[in-house]
Amino acid sequence: GSATRDLHILFFPFSAPGHIIPIVDLAKLFASRGVKTSILTTPGNAPSIQLSIDQANDSSTLRHPIALYLLPFPSAEAGLPTGCENASSLTFANLDMRAKFVGAFELLRQPFARVLRELLPNAVVTDSFLPWTQDVAAELDVPRLVFHGTSLFSLCASHSIDRFKVLESVPPGSAQSLVLPGLPHRIEMQRSQFRDSSKMPGFTVFFDRIRISEERSYGVVANSYYELEPDYAEHYRKVVGRRVWNVGPVSLCNRNEIEKSRRGDETSIGCSQCLSWLNTKKPGSVVYICFGSMYKLPIAQIREIALGLEASDAPFILVVRDVRGNDSDWLPEGFEEEVVGRGKGLIIRGWAPQLLILNHEAVGGFVTHCGWNSCLEGVSAGVPMITWPMFAEQFLNERLIVDVLKVGVGVGVKEYVDIGAERRVVAGEEIRRAVGRVMDGGEEAEEMRRRARELAEMGRRAVEEGGSSYADAGELIQELIGRRKTTGTE
Ligand code: UDP
Repeated sequence: GSATRDLHILFFPFSAPGHIIPIVDLAKLFASRGVKTSILTTPGNAPSIQLSIDQANDSSTLRHPIALYLLPFPSAEAGLPTGCENASSLTFANLDMRAKFVGAFELLRQPFARVLRELLPNAVVTDSFLPWTQDVAAELDVPRLVFHGTSLFSLCASHSIDRFKVLESVPPGSAQSLVLPGLPHRIEMQRSQFRDSSKMPGFTVFFDRIRISEERSYGVVANSYYELEPDYAEHYRKVVGRRVWNVGPVSLCNRNEIEKSRRGDETSIGCSQCLSWLNTKKPGSVVYICFGSMYKLPIAQIREIALGLEASDAPFILVVRDVRGNDSDWLPEGFEEEVVGRGKGLIIRGWAPQLLILNHEAVGGFVTHCGWNSCLEGVSAGVPMITWPMFAEQFLNERLIVDVLKVGVGVGVKEYVDIGAERRVVAGEEIRRAVGRVMDGGEEAEEMRRRARELAEMGRRAVEEGGSSYADAGELIQELIGRRKTTGTE
C-alpha cells in the first residue's frame, strides 16, 4: 500500500562486481515490492549500474523507478590512479593498492553524511566492507542494515574461527587439519586454506571493524534462503546472535531476462553467439568454467585447464580475463583451431553473461572459484559444481557446496592464494578427473544433479509470494514502516 510506497531505502555497495551486482539486485527486489529505492555509487560505476536498472525498468518488474546518486571518488586523495574506481581494475596481488582502495571509501564519510541528511531515507543497506557507514547512519538516527554477500555458512564458520581462535596455534601455510568447533556439521579444513594475517595485518584490523559495526547495526540482509542452509540460518540467529533477513537468491530478480533469452528474444544481458553455440549442445552436457570478476589465472594454469578440457569428454565454455599478448602465448599449440574450431569449446575473453549461461539447459557443470554469487547462481540454476577456491571466504563456501549441500566435488586445492605466494598449478589430468566426476552420468553425478535441481526449485519457491525469502523481505519492510511511524521520520 501507500505506506510501503513512502518507505525509502538507500543502498550503498562496495565497488567490486561481486558486491555491486547483488546489491543492485537487492534494490530491484525491494523496488518490485513497492519500496522507493536509491543506489549510491561513484561515477565510474554508474554506467553499468544504470544499464542494469534500465533492464529492470524495461521488463517492468519494478513498482518504483530506482534512483542513482553519485559521490565523486577521491582517487587522488587516496593515492590511487584516476579511473581506478572498481576493485576489478586493481592488480589483485598489489596489497598496497588494495588497502588504499578500501581506504578511499572512508574519505567519503562527510559526503555520505550529506547525502543521508538530504535524502533522509528510512533505512540504509550498506556493504559489510563499508563499516564506517554504521557511525554516520547512527549519528543521523537512520537504521543501517549490513549487506553480506556471502553464505550464512561462511558467516557462522568465521564466527567459530574467531571465537575459538582456531587459527592461532597452527603456523600459517601448514597442511595441518582443523575442525571448526560448534557448527551444525563437522567441518574440516586445512590451515593453509586461510589467510596468513601476518602478511596482511591491516586486514585483521579491517575485519574486526566489520564485526563491531555489524554488532551495532540494525541487522543483516543476506543473499541466501532459509531452505538452502536452515541449520546455519538458525545458528546465525541464535549462536552468533544477529538479526538477519534472508531474501535471496537475489539473482532471481533477473528471471524475466533469463526467460527472454530462453525464448530467443532480444535480451540486453544476452550474448547471442554464446547462446546459439549452447543451443547446438545436448542438455546437461556442457561444462562452464569461470573464476569470477577478480582473479586472473596465471598463464601456466590456463594451459593446464585447456589440456584438461581437451582430454575431457564434455564440451566447454572457458572464461579468461585480462590475458595480454598473442593467444598462442597462453593456449597450447593449435588448441583454438583444433578444439574450439571443432565446436568442442568456446573461449570468452573478458566478461561472460554468466546468468544466461548457467541457466541454459545445455550447461551441466560449473567449475567455480566459489565466490558466493557464483555459488548461489550455480545452485539457483540447478547446476552441480567443481570447486576451485582461491582466496577470501571461498574455501568456506567450498565446504558448504561439497560437504553440506553435496552438490559439488573439489578440484583439490589446499592453498590460499596469498600475496606473492606461488601457487601449485593444478594439472590438466586432475581437472579432467574432477570434471568427469560431475559430468560422467554415473551414480554420484546423478545424485548431485538431483540435489542441485531440488535446491534450485526451493530457491525459486523462496522468492515467490508465500516463500521464505519473500516473507523475510516483507517482514523487514513492515518493521521499517512501523519504526518510521513511531519515530515520526516522515
Ligand atoms: N560475472 C559475470 N561474468 C563474468 C564474471 C563474473 O557475469 O565473466 C558475475 C557473476 O555472475 C557474479 C559476479 O560477477 O554475479 C562475481 O561474483 P562472485 O561472488 O562469484 O566472485 P568475485 O568476482 O567477487 O570473486
